[in-house]
Amino acid sequence: MIIIIRKSLICFVIACLIGLSFIIFLPSFAFSPDLTLPRMPTILLDPGHGGWDGGTHDFNGLLEKNIVLDYAFLLKTELEKYNFQVQMTRTTDRELSEFAPYQGTRQRTDLLARVMMVTQYKANIMLSIHVNAAANHDLCGAIAFYQRQSTDSKKLAKSIQNSIQKLQTYNQQTILPANFYILNQSPITTVLLELAFITHPREHDDLQNPDYLKKMAELVALAVYQYTVDKHSKPTIFHYLF
Ligand SMILES: [Zn+2]
Repeated sequence: MIIIIRKSLICFVIACLIGLSFIIFLPSFAFSPDLTLPRMPTILLDPGHGGWDGGTHDFNGLLEKNIVLDYAFLLKTELEKYNFQVQMTRTTDRELSEFAPYQGTRQRTDLLARVMMVTQYKANIMLSIHVNAAANHDLCGAIAFYQRQSTDSKKLAKSIQNSIQKLQTYNQQTILPANFYILNQSPITTVLLELAFITHPREHDDLQNPDYLKKMAELVALAVYQYTVDKHSKPTIFHYLF
């Protein structure tokens, strides 16, 4: 009788240990980074400015429009490694006002043309890429602006900042809601990302460093991928337990 009870006890303990190991290890499987979708989302990359509109600049001819175009090509390459479809609002040094009905100013018309490409390319996510500048040369770090009414936009902005911090270790992970034209008018999840401050001495150098920009592209692509994985993960009990 005692032997039977002991055997039962041992079986019970083993069952508990197996159950415990499932609880400990299964979440890592539940959050597997592998994502299989019938069709990966289309990302519309929008290198800001272009043509007559150079964006912000330093005093040696370094222009925002050129930095963000180079960066957008790097980001396109990295996103395609995750099988995202990637389109760009511009692939050369030009502005786009001729592609939209006039909106009162050339700049606003240019912005509308960019937003119209969301429909044209059937895009799911839009990333507008910019470089920041400030009178205070101590200001630094990427800033991700999101659509005020969109929790998806906010989640994507958070994911991007979380990832960028691996490169910009001093980054405060600033995400802000904003009323920029692109954010307000875009009908899809959109984030406007300011990569760094051209007016900050160190970031001014970073923005001209191809290795730095490539690393930044890798991190932002990873962030978009992680956001997509989270968005398409089915909730499991572990979402609530951990
Ligand atoms: Zn800009």
